[in-house]
Amino acid sequence: MKKLFVMLMAIVTAVAMLCAGCGGDKKAAPSKEAPKAKILRVATEPSFAPFEFQKEGSKEFTGFDIDLIKALGTKAGYKVEVSNMGFDALIPALQAGNIDVAIAGMTITDERKKVVDFTAPYYNAGLIVVVHKDNNTIKGFKDLANKKLAVQIGTTGEKQAHKVPGAKVTAFNTNVEATMELKTGGAEAVINDRPVAEYFLATGGGDKFAKTVGDVLEAEQYGIAVKKGNKELLDALNKALADAKKDGTYDKIYKTWFGAAK
Ligand code: GLN
Repeated sequence: MKKLFVMLMAIVTAVAMLCAGCGGDKKAAPSKEAPKAKILRVATEPSFAPFEFQKEGSKEFTGFDIDLIKALGTKAGYKVEVSNMGFDALIPALQAGNIDVAIAGMTITDERKKVVDFTAPYYNAGLIVVVHKDNNTIKGFKDLANKKLAVQIGTTGEKQAHKVPGAKVTAFNTNVEATMELKTGGAEAVINDRPVAEYFLATGGGDKFAKTVGDVLEAEQYGIAVKKGNKELLDALNKALADAKKDGTYDKIYKTWFGAAK
C-alpha cells in the first residue's frame, strides 16, 4: 500500500513537472522577445522629386514624403515598408486593401475624398505651366488653347489639361516621361505641381531646356490617403502628423528638402 502510494506520488510529480515545463515555456517565450512592430504597407509613385524619387544608381526611395511617412509610421508604432506603383494605381490598391497608405504628393480633392480618406493637409502646392525655355508665346494657363500638352496620368494636372479648349493632351505613366516629351519637342507645355517643377529646374537639370511661366493655378493641398473607413489608422496618422509639427520633426524634414523651415 505504502509502495503504491509512493509510486503514485512519483507519477503525479512527474506529470506536474512535465506540464509546468511545457506550459511555462509557451508563456515565457514571447515575453523574452521585443514586441514585433506592425508593418505599414506604404505605396508611392517615385517620379516626383523632391517628394518621392530614387537616387541615381539606387533602388531605394527617398524624398520629403518618404521621410515624413517613415517618421509618422514610427511615431504610430509601425515598421514602414515602401513600394511603388503607377500614380493611377494607388487609389485602387487602397480600395482593394493591398496597401495601407498612399503618399505621393497626392492632392486632396472632393472626387478622391469620395473613395479614400485623407489625413489633415501636410503641404500646400498648386499647378504651374512648364514650357521649353525658348518658347515665348506661352506665358501661362491662358495661352494653352490648341497646344500639345504632356501630363502624368491620373493627376490634377491631367484634369486641368482636359479643360483647355482644343488642347491635345498626352498622359504619361510618369512625370519624368511627361517632361521628356517637352524636351524632345513632342509637347509644347507640361502641367505639373509647382514644387516639383521648381525642384526640377533648380536641382534636376531642367533649367537647361525648360522654364515655368505664369501664375500658380489655385492652391492644392497634399494629404496622405488610407482606405475609406480605416479610422484607426487615419487617427493614428493624424495624431503623429500633429505631433511631428509640434516637436520639430516636420520642420527638420522640410528643411532637408526645401532648404528653409516652413
Ligand atoms: N498633386 C497631383 C495630384 O494629386 C500630382 C501628384 C503626382 O503626380 N504624384 O494629382
